[in-house]
Amino acid sequence: MPRFHVTWGTGTGVVEPFVRHALQAAAAGRLTIHHRHRVDELVVTEGAVTGVRGTVLGPDDAARGVSSHREAVGEFELSAQAVVVTSGGIGANHDLVRRFWPERLGKAPGFLVTGVPAHVDGRMLEISERAGARLVNRDRMWHYTEGLRNWDPVWPGHGIRILPGPSSMWFDALGRRLPAPCLPGYDTLGTLRHLRTDPDIAGYDHSWFVLTQQIVEKEFALSGSEQNPDITANDRKAFLRERLLGKGAPAPVAAFVEKGADFAVAPILDELVAKMNAMTDEPLLDAAALRHQIEARDLQIANPYSKDAQVQGIRNSRRYLGDRLGRTATPHRILDPAAGPLIAVKLNILTRKTLGGIQTDLDSRVLSADGSPVPGLYAAGEVAGFGGGGMHGYNALEGTFLGGCLFSGRKAGRAAAASTA
Ligand SMILES: Cc1cc2nc3c(=O)[nH]c(=O)nc-3n(C[C@H](O)[C@H](O)[C@H](O)COP(=O)(O)OP(=O)(O)OC[C@H]3O[C@@H](n4cnc5c(N)ncnc54)[C@H](O)[C@@H]3O)c2cc1C
Repeated sequence: MPRFHVTWGTGTGVVEPFVRHALQAAAAGRLTIHHRHRVDELVVTEGAVTGVRGTVLGPDDAARGVSSHREAVGEFELSAQAVVVTSGGIGANHDLVRRFWPERLGKAPGFLVTGVPAHVDGRMLEISERAGARLVNRDRMWHYTEGLRNWDPVWPGHGIRILPGPSSMWFDALGRRLPAPCLPGYDTLGTLRHLRTDPDIAGYDHSWFVLTQQIVEKEFALSGSEQNPDITANDRKAFLRERLLGKGAPAPVAAFVEKGADFAVAPILDELVAKMNAMTDEPLLDAAALRHQIEARDLQIANPYSKDAQVQGIRNSRRYLGDRLGRTATPHRILDPAAGPLIAVKLNILTRKTLGGIQTDLDSRVLSADGSPVPGLYAAGEVAGFGGGGMHGYNALEGTFLGGCLFSGRKAGRAAAASTA
């Protein structure tokens, strides 16, 4: 089946049924929601977790995703027969990301863009550890190699991930085409490993897409609910208008091409490479070397039995009707002026998912260092490595993260409820 999918309503649509149930429970007096209450400590009584303690933060009407102020206006303590930690991963805390960056992914990047809101700070991990939780698999993480600096940031250092179709050519910081299978949309961690372990390029934190206007129009999608207003609003007519029938790139993509700090546009390659070189501290790219590689690839477009792995991938993708209609540009030469202008995109490494965390059993009960459950404590979602402390192993598949959050959350809720029965 196609690996990539987007839900109608995006993230807000996924959350909506749960919010509805929660608000109904709150209206019926079965649930109390404590907004602006930051947990700083888990209360442990005779070896069991019996509640939470923390800081009440002052009111803030920041929009969704925008970091709110941290000004304390009070303290609080709540007790309960069960505490479920669901505080998310570590992606907004670059120090933590670098501290646990695995050797197998090479050198940790000096510059990262942040693919998650500021609250994904990893603070609850050590707070849980102090209450007896065992933290495992902290070196497992999932970051993207196609991050853009957001020209209109929602949170600090906000990076947007390109969800690329198969046709952009991918070059390293020195202008060498990435080897297969490091192709757009193929193997995220494999590409990250390549970029961070090759000694010639591991000192650089960026790579490049080179493509055409035709490719950007058909193949660039951007991750994030605010980048997909038609899908977020469940507006199927706007979706058809913008993405299938419309002329040009979807408006959020066009805005990035025009305003994004990581985009360069030029009618001819020499001019494009000059602009690309101006976007880095030192000029690393040679226009003639880039031209040689692009022409070699372009020749393969005319070859019906091409051995170029990317050209094969483009043709393969077009065998699936959905991708042919909405996701993969008609194969063309990158240097064909009719497909232009040429576009270069400087790609940064974008933090996203934390694949390890609090270890739990199959009921989402938090385990201690000796493997026994910590009484009263449960953990679910990304803070528990999407379940158990790392249910994905070292790798994962696109779109399999929320499933782990929902499933481990359900297990935690049921087990916590059963513990009082
Ligand atoms: C732009 C983007 C796109 C994504 N796309 C996909 C996708 O297509 N498919 C997919 O499967 N996954 C996707 N993910 C990942 C997925 O959204 C997250 O893994 C998931 O939302 C994590 O859920 P969670 O409930 O565990 O944590 P979060 O959603 O991070 O929620 C944690 C909550 O805990 C609160 N919190 C944290 N610390 C404290 C504290 N000390 N006291 C009180 N509250 C605290 C936070 O404020 C927050 O409300 C995406 C993520 C992003 C950012």
